[in-house]
Amino acid sequence: MNAPLTTWRCDVCGKLIEKPDDGYVIWIDSSGGIPHDFKIIHQGRCDLNGNYSCSSALSDFLGADGSAKLLAMLSYGRLHTIQAGSSAGKPTPPDLDEFVDLFRRLQTPYYEEARVKFALQSVLDDFADHNEVSPYTEEHLRAIAERPSE
Ligand SMILES: [Zn+2]
Repeated sequence: MNAPLTTWRCDVCGKLIEKPDDGYVIWIDSSGGIPHDFKIIHQGRCDLNGNYSCSSALSDFLGADGSAKLLAMLSYGRLHTIQAGSSAGKPTPPDLDEFVDLFRRLQTPYYEEARVKFALQSVLDDFADHNEVSPYTEEHLRAIAERPSE
């Protein structure tokens, strides 16, 4: 298995994105700047003919600065709120589960490798009585990622 947070599965062609510099994140900003329909793709060859209005290099979403970029999609942040003198909220993605999936793919070790195995019957059975946190710990994600495909 590759080191976590170094390779991704392309949402368009299904093949491996072998390093961060080969990847791109694309999404649509509907009116009002509401981001949705996120995809991780091969830069250039899987760009869906420019049908997505927003894009950024995958590497921009990695590490602490990447976390800052992702969270800025949810909130203007405290500094901006103080400057604006109000707490007017930012329009948030309509599908928070989709956003959290993207966040974990780019920030949580072994999530990308484990997520393709979440539908395995053995995973569903083993985590049937777990809460919404436990499956996403690094220890459990690594264990899921290391399972053979059924
Ligand atoms: Zn691709």
